[in-house]
Amino acid sequence: MRKKFAVIGHPIEHSRSPELHHAFAAKMGIELDYQKRLAAQDGFDASIDAFFADQGQGLNVTVPFKEQAFARCDVVTERAKIAQAVNTLWYQDGLLHGDNTDGQGLVAAITALAWPLHNARVLILGAGGATRGVIYPLFQAGVAQICIANRTYARALHLQQDILQHYPDLALDISEIAALSGHYDLVINATSASLSGAALQLPAALRFDYAYEMAYGKDSDFLALARQRQVPASDGFSMLVGQAIEAFEIWHGCRPELQDFLDASPHNP
Ligand code: NDP
Repeated sequence: MRKKFAVIGHPIEHSRSPELHHAFAAKMGIELDYQKRLAAQDGFDASIDAFFADQGQGLNVTVPFKEQAFARCDVVTERAKIAQAVNTLWYQDGLLHGDNTDGQGLVAAITALAWPLHNARVLILGAGGATRGVIYPLFQAGVAQICIANRTYARALHLQQDILQHYPDLALDISEIAALSGHYDLVINATSASLSGAALQLPAALRFDYAYEMAYGKDSDFLALARQRQVPASDGFSMLVGQAIEAFEIWHGCRPELQDFLDASPHNP
């Protein structure tokens, strides 16, 4: 029987993880079955228990369950502990293990685009699981300063306190989105606004050189703004490939090459 893997979220239809993991497996000569798994908003625990009870080998976790996944794990990696969010789950010796591969995926994606990260001033919009996962890897990649701006200020504050508790010397600021101004080298949209179709309003006084939209597969207000300002921009498909490669290596012990799986996304201006 083929080994079973899945990605769990709500919504889940947009996910391209199954096609990626099947493509990696074909390239590496591994047989597997990787499905999408929709969990009810209050049904995450029951859904992952059912998956692993039914011989599931590994799960990726997406919106909005990454923080719940972290809370469920018996063992987490250091980068998942710092993020307090998990996107990759597997059982080992009867214990549920979790890792967070989003940050390494984003760093690999931006590096592949040849956008500068060293000494960069970075603005991240949003303070959910995805933001938690990328902060520390971005600092490790050499960025000088990160500002997190969230619609709900209290959530940004909570995230900042969590991170600084581990690494008090990091240059990590927070802001309300409406209060943003000035210049950033790179802006990363880590809100889920485009998933829900909600508007994302950014102040006119905010300026930036590069724009990375974590969502993928459709156009967004953020990508439209980047086009309007003639700023180089990318949607999140390359990050998806990057984080999937990390998860694949955890589960299978071998690693596909990022460049082999980057296609031209129709939403990259
Ligand atoms: P969460 O649900 O954990 O967080 C969502 C965030 O979006 C919150 O900060 C929320 O703010 C904010 N938000 C939602 N709607 C709006 C809006 N209309 N205006 C302003 N802010 C808004 O999601 P994740 O952090 O897990 O994921 C965020 C995005 O990143 C998703 O689009 C996801 O698909 C994408 N992603 C892509 C990856 C990739 O590999 N390319 C990997 C991981 C994530 P508030 O706190 O105020 O509610």
